[in-house]
Parts: sequence; structure tokens; C-alpha cells
Amino acid sequence: MLGEPLDRNVGGKTAEAMAELDLHTVGDLLDHIPRRYVERGELTSLDELVVGETVTIQAEVVRVSGRQIRHKLHKLDVVVSDGRGTLTVTFFNQHWRDKQLKPGTRHLFAGKVDVFGRNKVRQLTNPETNPDDDDDDFAGGLLPLYPATAKLRTWHIRKAVKSLLASLPELPDPLPLELRQKYKLPGLREAYQKIHRPTGFADVEAARKRLRWDEALVIQVALAQRRAAVERQSAVPRPERPGGLLEAFDRALPFDLTGGQHVVGEEVAHDLARTFPMHRLLQGEVGSGKTVVALRAMLTVIDAGGQSALLAPTEVLAVQHERSLRALLGPLGIAGELGSADEATRIVLLTGSQTAGARRAALAAIAEPETGIVVGTHALLSEGVDFAELGLAVVDEQHRFGVEQRDALRARAEASGGTPPHLLVMTATPIPRTVAMTVFGDLDTSELTELPAGRTPIRSHVAAPQWHNRIWLKVREEVAAGHQAFVVCPRIGEGPEVDVDIADEPAADPTDPTDEGADSGERRPPLAVLEVLPLLAEGELQGLRIEALHGRLPSEEKERVMSRFTAGQIDVLVATTMVEVGVDVPNATVMVILDADRFGVSQLHQLRGRVGRGSAEGWCLLHTEAPEASPSRERVEAVAATLDGAELAKLDLRERREGDVLGTAQSGRRRSLKLLDLLRDEQLLIAARAEAAEIVAHDPDLEQHGELARVLARRLDEERAAYLEKG
Ligand code: ADP
Ligand code: MG
Repeated sequence: MLGEPLDRNVGGKTAEAMAELDLHTVGDLLDHIPRRYVERGELTSLDELVVGETVTIQAEVVRVSGRQIRHKLHKLDVVVSDGRGTLTVTFFNQHWRDKQLKPGTRHLFAGKVDVFGRNKVRQLTNPETNPDDDDDDFAGGLLPLYPATAKLRTWHIRKAVKSLLASLPELPDPLPLELRQKYKLPGLREAYQKIHRPTGFADVEAARKRLRWDEALVIQVALAQRRAAVERQSAVPRPERPGGLLEAFDRALPFDLTGGQHVVGEEVAHDLARTFPMHRLLQGEVGSGKTVVALRAMLTVIDAGGQSALLAPTEVLAVQHERSLRALLGPLGIAGELGSADEATRIVLLTGSQTAGARRAALAAIAEPETGIVVGTHALLSEGVDFAELGLAVVDEQHRFGVEQRDALRARAEASGGTPPHLLVMTATPIPRTVAMTVFGDLDTSELTELPAGRTPIRSHVAAPQWHNRIWLKVREEVAAGHQAFVVCPRIGEGPEVDVDIADEPAADPTDPTDEGADSGERRPPLAVLEVLPLLAEGELQGLRIEALHGRLPSEEKERVMSRFTAGQIDVLVATTMVEVGVDVPNATVMVILDADRFGVSQLHQLRGRVGRGSAEGWCLLHTEAPEASPSRERVEAVAATLDGAELAKLDLRERREGDVLGTAQSGRRRSLKLLDLLRDEQLLIAARAEAAEIVAHDPDLEQHGELARVLARRLDEERAAYLEKG
């Protein structure tokens, strides 16, 4: 029933209009749930109308005045009221409307809010109207309003849904009966009835709760099945070996591990010793010391006869990692060379920009078991590099190392006759617990919450225009004290190419309505590396050693600049968000972010994490021209106000909506989460996760849960389609 095409149930024209809303089946239409409800007689608050939005409002006609503007053009102004404010609704060449829209009567008006005249007065032009006295539509005093289009008004949808519901048979229910009873949830048909034709808000709430459960359970069952599938795979266990490389490393370590590093180390060691692959996500604030945790896991695997790969999101980072692993390992990392320790292993770097000769040598080394650690980008896994025995893959700063990549990793291992490696994914992007549960629910998670002792917290300041020159004074001051600075811009500048360096997260979306609304079109373009650098070099930062780092530089050049910066031969690095992740230069103490309002919250937090990594105090200066109290400005202020990544992650989530966080948001594509709110529904998600685990434990292939299995299959198909579309 739910899968039936709509054109068999509603008129052909209506079906066409519905297709524009991506509604194709009976199920789609029933799942097209009201955005909100109006109570009988309740008037829409007119000052909340957003310009550009298609709205349906309920309002009372105050006065009507018509006039002939010129030949064949009649204008009818209808002033309507919500009891406090008024709005003008204008009709052209519809004089007859004055008979329908009598002062004192109430109507629904549906149309797009636009602005008129120099004073930007909001108005509706030629909206469709519907007298609100159609008694039957207000089933219990509540009238549902749907997301609608110009061709398909909310009342068209209402009528179609109403007739569907009238003939709707009892539906097979994906939620098991016991579960519905336990959580007091209505059945599926009843839920549809209640959400589309409620007799009061209690109905709406009950129905929403039930439909949220559908969403949550389907996701959690999918994840529980993935976990179960991983547990059925086999992997070579890599238990800790006394007297090996790890012990030698721990003895030589110049600092004590933090409590968190100890705990996570044990969790990882426990996973590595099992006969199925570890799938663990390690979250930890920037600077919390994830690299050491990863290195210790790698050494454990080497002690147990395997190799480890460390994958970075960019070549610059791969090079950095190789260098810092060498530094951390010292004599333990140079097997075969002069001065190496007995237990020593070998580190090899493989990047796309190496010369053919260097690459050949690296590939040959990787095929030898004496090479314990291989550092590279993700290409390492896809290029068919032959490892002697890959036992562990560590993926750094890539929380989007998704299901697909993990599948690819497993498939490759199987194709070469081996077992999949253990997997450790690391991220400094704080992920709210519910998102972690939803997106990474098939991973075990570990967290590093404390920073190593002896760090001074970073000082963050928002620099509004009157303070802009102070920024450069501060930079000069720090450089004079022997430190270094980053200056980050949202754009590269000059040149026709697409301009944003995508490190991981997209920069703030200039078309995002939360950004600056209708004004965004009038803003100047964001500041650019190639434009800012010469200005600074000849102006405020004259005499300092300044260089640029951005995505359009050839790889060798990027590496050269980065290593010169690391070596202290550059004072100020003007860069794009390339420096967002992983860059570790403890002598850098100032992070200047130009046009900070153009970045997302998490991005700003990440960028800030590039300083304050040594013992000296770190500074983050957030340059902005966004007007005070504007949403963009507030976002920047929020970042300045706290160093708590978890709190910022929540803020980010609130701003970006779950769809984007889940990575499945496609313009025009249905959101995968309609009702479930990852900020609000934490308890429900926790319960759904437990129920899903229970269901999958007893019925791994969902043989006794036919409808749940069908809904799940449909959802996975949609996801696969979305993934393929992304290419
Ligand atoms: P992130 O978690 O951001 O990747 P890193 O692993 O790069 O952080 O560590 C940041 C810095 O802290 C590095 O210079 C590292 O050597 C140092 N570090 C790591 N663990 C400790 C510790 N327990 N005590 C002192 N310094 C540490
Ligand atoms: Mg790191």
C-alpha cells in the first residue's frame, strides 16, 4: 500500500505537482508531515515571517482598497492583521477578491513573502487564499500546514492526505508490538491519522514520538547489524608483547602519559588482542595527544608481527606526521641505521608527489616486514600498495572516514587473501554524543578529555573593525619574542579556479539563510591569501618573513613552506584552512583568522587549536566585520567565549542541522531525519540503540521483523543512491 505510486491515488496533475516535492508514493505523502499547525481562530504572528519563504498564514482582513493603476492593471491592497501587526496582501487584476475578503473575516493566505518599496515592507503578492471556515478541515480545532509549493498549496496536500487516510487499511508496522507497548506508541496507521488529522496537540505529540522512533530504530538497527557483521569477520589478534618496542618506547618517553591516554591505550590494546577487527573512533580535543596513543597502538601491532599505516587527510600533514613520529621514536625508529636501538623499526613515507625513484624505494620498503610504520594519505589504501602484513590502519583527523571507506579497506584485504586490519579513526572535531551514536554507531568510541599538563589556555578575542590594527601589533610583538603566527583567510584569491581549500569541512555557506539573510549578496568577497599577503608584507608586517600556504601550490612547494615554518624560518604563514587540521608547530603562538564570520564554528575551533601547543601562551584573534548582534557575529563571539569543544559542537549542530552533519544532505533530496532531532532526542536514541541491539542479537537477519527489514532496505537503497550521486 505505502509503496503504491501516487498517481493512482490522487489526480494526475496533483501527482505531478507532488513529484516536485519528491513525493512519489503513498508512503511519501503520508511521511510528508505538517510543518506546523494552526488552531482555529489563531492568527499567524506576522512579524515572524521570513522574506523569501513560502508561507501559509491565517489572518483577519482589516481593510481593502482597490484602484486602477493604468489601463488593464488593477491593484487590490488587502491589509490583514494578526491582532498586533499588519501585513499588506496585494492582488493584481483580481478585483473580485473584494467580495470574498470582507473586513472582519479570516482567511488563509499562501504565497511567498517578498519586500516592497524603499522601506522594504514585507508583503504577499497574489497569494492563494482559502476561507478558514471549512469546518471539516479543523478536525479537532487544529489545522495542519504543510511544506508546500506554488503549484501545490497546503490545502491541496491536506485534501489529498485526507482522502488517502479515509481509505487507508491497517498497515504492517515496522515497530515490534512489544516495543510499542513498552514505550506507549501508537500503531503506524494511527500515527499517520494523528499527525495529519489531530484532534489536539496530544495527538500530534504521540504521533511525532512514534515516528521519531521509526527513524531512530531504523538507523540503530542498521548500525547494530554492521557491528554484528564486523564481529563475524576475523582479524589477526595483536596482543601486547612484553619486552618489545612498546615497552622500550614507554621507557624513553620524555613525559608521563595523561590519565586519558592510559585509559584509551588499554581500550585499544584490548581491541587489538581480539580475533575480529577493532573499529574504534578516538575523539580528543586538539592537542590532547592522540598521536602518542596512535603510535603506541602501532608499536603494539609491530611487536605482534604486523605493520601499521598512518593515514593523513593531506600530504602536508602526512609529511608532518612522519617527522613527528621520527622525533617521538628517536633511535627506535631508524632500524638498520647507525645508532638505532635493538628493538627499532623503520618508518616509510609515501606521497603522490614523491619522485618516481623515491616512490619505488618506498613501495619496496613497504613490502618488507621490517618496515613497521607507513605514513601517507588515504591514497595509500586505494592505490593497491602492497604491504608485507598490514595489521593496523590509523586514520587521522578524518571523522568522515565513512562506512564506504571501511568497506573498501575490508574488500581489499579480502581480495589479497588476507584479513582486514584493525582500524583506529581519530578526530579532533568534537562530535555531540547523539551524532556519534548515529553516524558512528557502528564504531566503539574512546575519548581524550584532558590536555597534557603545563598548557596555558588559549586567549581568544573578537577583533571588530576598530581593533583591526591591534591584530598586527600583537603579531609583531609575538614575532619579536621569537614566536610565529598564522593568518588564515577564507579564500585563496586571484585566478579562475574554485577558490576554497577544502580541508575537511566546507567554509560557511554564503547562501546559508542563517548567515546574513538577504544582505549576503551585498557583502564584499571574503579576504584572500594572495591579496592579503602583499598588503601585509608591505604594510603592517613589513620586515617580517611572510609566506603563503594554500591548495593551489604544487605539493613540493607546500612541503617546503611547511617545513620552513616548522623550522622557524618563516615568521608569519598566510594560509587557507589547509592548516586547519593536525599542524603541530608549538612555537606558533598567534592564530589570526580573517573574516572569521565566514567560517563554521567547528572550523574556527579547529583553527584555534593550531596555537597554544607549546608552553607559551596562545592567542586567537578573530577578525570580523560582521555587524554586532548579527548571527555571524554571534557565532564568532561564541567561539571566543569558550574553549569547550563539546559545547561548540552542539552549537554547530544547531546551526548546520543534522542533515549536514550526517553528510546526507542533498539539495532537493529528502532529509533522512525528519522528526528526530539529534540535540533534543538523546534519551530516545539511547533507548532505540538498546532496543536495536536486542533485536539484532536475537534476530540478526530480521527474519521475524519483516516490515522493519523492508523499511531498512529502502532506507539503505536511498543512502546508496545518494552516495553514488555524490560520486
Ligand atoms: P592531537 O591530539 O591534537 O593530535 P598531538 O598528538 O599532536 O595532539 O599532541 C600535541 C602535543 O602534545 C605534541 O607535541 C605531543 O608530543 C604532546 N604530548 C602528547 N602527550 C603528552 C603528554 N602526556 N604530556 C605532555 N605532552 C604531550
Ligand atoms: Mg593530531
